[in-house]
Amino acid sequence: MKRIGVLTSGGDAPGMNAAIRAVVRTGVAKGWEVYGIREGYKGLIEGKMIPLGVRDVGGIIQRGGTVLGSARCEEFKTEGGRLKAIRSLNENSIEGLVVIGGNGSQTGTFKLHEMGFPVVGVASTIDNDLVGTDITIGVDTALNIALEAIDRLKVTGSSHQRGFLIEVMGRKCGYLALMAAIAGGAETVVIPEVESDPEEIAQILIHAYEKGKSHAIVVVAEGATYNATRLAEYFKQHEDRIGFALRVTILGHVQRGGAPGASDRILASRLGAGATDALEAGKYGVLVGWVNGKVHTTPLEEVVGKTKEIDMELFELARKLD
Ligand code: ADP
Repeated sequence: MKRIGVLTSGGDAPGMNAAIRAVVRTGVAKGWEVYGIREGYKGLIEGKMIPLGVRDVGGIIQRGGTVLGSARCEEFKTEGGRLKAIRSLNENSIEGLVVIGGNGSQTGTFKLHEMGFPVVGVASTIDNDLVGTDITIGVDTALNIALEAIDRLKVTGSSHQRGFLIEVMGRKCGYLALMAAIAGGAETVVIPEVESDPEEIAQILIHAYEKGKSHAIVVVAEGATYNATRLAEYFKQHEDRIGFALRVTILGHVQRGGAPGASDRILASRLGAGATDALEAGKYGVLVGWVNGKVHTTPLEEVVGKTKEIDMELFELARKLD
């Protein structure tokens, strides 16, 4: 192998830059040229790529987002789009590819693998919904941002006897919400994996008010059937029963834009290095993740089309600590 490519795809996550840097530097150390492909699969189809040397990735480890840019690309979901992508790789003499991204992106990686192109995926998404890794690049930073918001809302909530419904990202996975609820000392949590009854949440709030709490925090995952907006609609009809005045805060993309913390920088560096090791070893069509404290590769066919299950013990814990 003489030349490899690296791209970031789907939702950006803090730490993607550290992963790009690791792919470039470990790739160059193996004697390869490394090309950075701009804007994910879209840029791949369009042939938007540039050679990256070790100095080109200096000063990016501490930056959030992705210096290569990311995109969502419908064309890549078609075989024709993927054939264009492979043509573009061949035209640029790229013999191996590293895809840094989340669940959707890794489905694309698997499809490329099935078409015979040497490719590996690096687990990166703030949702932590990928099978084949205990943790994904970006989760820890996103969690700390959510936590900072919760802490601040508690302060203002206490001054006004307010309850906050705080919606966090995570798509169909409740991991981020669950961890934010435990670490943020929330009264309760609502996640997609567990059917929630709004009346049960109302009772928790009423109970908290009766106990004399000066604020109440409900962390809600965006993918839950009763997301924060729907819960607020329900509570509006029951305001006189719930002592707290309720407010909704949707954290949204704020969670994604932070500078990566130490854990994400280290994880991304290790997984990025693991990706070039996998290519060198001829281990194609795998997801490079973190399992039991070590870099671990899992065949992508065991990863795609699945969402990681939530640890129900943590859900029980989150609901016990109010
Ligand atoms: P994430 O990787 O963060 O989960 P998306 O789900 O939006 O983000 O996926 C990112 C990109 O991956 C899509 O825009 C598309 O180009 C590609 N992709 C997603 N699903 C598929 C699929 N089934 N087949 C091929 N490519 C896909």
